[in-house]
Amino acid sequence: MTLEKSIYDLSQEELKSFLVKNNISPDFSTTIFRNLYKNNKHEMPISKKIMAILRKNFNVDLPVIHTVSKSPDGTVKFLMMFSDNKSVETVLIPFNKRFTVCLSSQVGCAMKCSFCYTGTMGLSRHLKSGEIIGQYIVAANYLDVELGLKTMAPNIVFMGQGEPLHNSDEVLKAIQIFMEPFGLAMGPRQMTLSTAGYLPGIKKLNDFPKINIALSLHSPFNSIRKELIPINQHFPLEDIFKELDGLDLMKRQFIVYEYLLIDGLNDRVEDADELLKLLGERKSAINLIPFNPFPGSNYKRPSDEKVEAFKEMLVERKLRTMIRTTKGSDILAACGQLKS
Ligand code: SF4
Repeated sequence: MTLEKSIYDLSQEELKSFLVKNNISPDFSTTIFRNLYKNNKHEMPISKKIMAILRKNFNVDLPVIHTVSKSPDGTVKFLMMFSDNKSVETVLIPFNKRFTVCLSSQVGCAMKCSFCYTGTMGLSRHLKSGEIIGQYIVAANYLDVELGLKTMAPNIVFMGQGEPLHNSDEVLKAIQIFMEPFGLAMGPRQMTLSTAGYLPGIKKLNDFPKINIALSLHSPFNSIRKELIPINQHFPLEDIFKELDGLDLMKRQFIVYEYLLIDGLNDRVEDADELLKLLGERKSAINLIPFNPFPGSNYKRPSDEKVEAFKEMLVERKLRTMIRTTKGSDILAACGQLKS
């Protein structure tokens, strides 16, 4: 029988309460946390008695790597399986001698974005916080043990499978556990959450630590955006921006607007003009992502010249703009290409 609750679902406070209820000193919570998150070992160097109690009450297993795909550009994509045999994809992306882990938050996704491979799967289930954290630990371990790369702890982006704000409680819990001082001790700015614009979740963002926020914008026009992101019919841009404008941002913090560039659809002069109206007065940065084709998709990737030309249009309009280099597209690990 698989135990429902994972030890990785617990904050240190929750672990302390559990220990106290079992007549164990709460001080052991620090040792346990250090071991779970720093040494990344399953076996805890604590007494057999405590270990037995933990094992009896919690699932201590991490997700299992089912498949690994490696791209020559250094991107590594994992298919990770959970105890119920459901699986998600998790991606390690190299950038400037450092790695970022792209985490999934759901098995499948309910948002059905028309440019996204995951969107064709539908939603199977939400991930628990421990399953989100487990992906990170397994990927970071792989970097260390299999690739022998002693780099700094990878940063995190919630941009894998699923809409993180559709599973906001578990994602928030995972973020809080990532920040636990005796665990991974991550800073909030090491984490980026990207949303397709799920308004009920955006309304909760002020309750989150001050992580980086990204919105999948893709078009400044509701008429085009709802074709790309169907939930835009329910949550149009006016409503989304009303909420984003109310976010309590730090001084130098800005919201990143992801803009998937699709040939002939959203790379026109009128798109650049409308983006200026929408973002010109806001603390923003635009991330241009040339569309990554996947089997069965109807959209085309613009040529590199067209991508560069659109960037120039935005820069001329004084909009802070970057082109995101596509990594891992040869192994379907790039943005919008993930599928279990
Ligand atoms: S782009 Fe994100 S929100 Fe949209 S279907 Fe894909 S995984 Fe879901």
